[in-house]
Amino acid sequence: MGLFAPDRYFSRVSRIDVDRDLLGRGLRFVLLDIDNTIRRRDNHEVPLDVRVWLDRVRERGAAVCLLSNNCHANVYDLADELGLPIVAKAMKPLPFGYMRATRMCGASVGETVMVGDQICTDVVGAKLVGMKSYLIAPLVEQDLPHMAALRHIERRVVGDRIPEGAPTSVSSQAKE
Ligand SMILES: [Mg+2]
Repeated sequence: MGLFAPDRYFSRVSRIDVDRDLLGRGLRFVLLDIDNTIRRRDNHEVPLDVRVWLDRVRERGAAVCLLSNNCHANVYDLADELGLPIVAKAMKPLPFGYMRATRMCGASVGETVMVGDQICTDVVGAKLVGMKSYLIAPLVEQDLPHMAALRHIERRVVGDRIPEGAPTSVSSQAKE
């Protein structure tokens, strides 16, 4: 089960506190999944809170590299737009993309965290290279058909665990 267990589980990427959850834990480098982590899979929109979080990460001196299995041209366009380096066609959970991305950033594995919405790719790959991993609840539930089986496995792993930053009451939902 260790391979499938993320170090933390957040409701959104923007709920990762840059000082407390990254820098305070010695994590200066972030490998960041794209689809359903920072960009909605349905309309390809990057939500405002995600953009603000990315600015904050960089302001605080941490480095971000996109790491995606996606091989469409639009992921390179997104990397350009956000001003971030990218390793696409990464074939997560295989280790090559992780190693390439850490090399590109001049990062060490121990100072790097993989942030993504899928256990079977993002989390497992991070574990295979000995890297920390933060799982994010997917931005939209709608997913590619072939992912249904993987999501089923993920639901079994995550179970009833409530992601950090998720609204816990009606009143906090109202503030969202
Ligand atoms: Mg994803």
